[in-house]
Amino acid sequence: MICLILSLFSHIFKSGWTGVNECTFIAVKPDGVQRKLVGEIVRRFERRGFKLVGLKLVRVSEDLLREHYWDLRTKTFFSGLITYMSSGPIVAMVWQGLDVVKTARKMLGETNPADSLPGTIRGDFCVEVGRNVIHGSDSVESAQKEISLWFRQNELQCWDPSSSRWVYN
Ligand code: ADP
Repeated sequence: MICLILSLFSHIFKSGWTGVNECTFIAVKPDGVQRKLVGEIVRRFERRGFKLVGLKLVRVSEDLLREHYWDLRTKTFFSGLITYMSSGPIVAMVWQGLDVVKTARKMLGETNPADSLPGTIRGDFCVEVGRNVIHGSDSVESAQKEISLWFRQNELQCWDPSSSRWVYN
């Protein structure tokens, strides 16, 4: 019974993250940071009209990365992926806005840069799948999990940009 109430409560809490309040987790990977792409990437999200609600430069543990990429644990490239992601600082961000999860994935391009169209981040800034510069959550559910894995609640800012009424009608 308690479990049911808790899961209902968490569902209601999470459903606050819908519509214009939808959030996604974006990470500029170590190669993106080393290649000084942070400003360019932030610029693209800002100019699209999304709202930055969390941002930090971090070096995370392999344990966190293994949890983050748990679904890929059986892939041959898994250990290389963990080494790559722990090779330097990462810029972790939370962006908010209408359909931000889907739109961010479009802005990123495909997993393999070779399949990514020019104009997308991966299509413009990288060539190899093992150095593809940026991560973005692939669903609203993944975004919720990833945000709570990478950020504490008090690291997220609730604020009201003065441009909101020019982005949404
Ligand atoms: P995405 O990051 O586009 O959501 P996946 O979740 O499938 O893609 O993969 C996670 C990350 O694992 C990719 O972004 C990439 O860094 C790495 N990766 C995926 N496929 C390969 C591969 N074939 N070889 C090396 N690394 C890969």
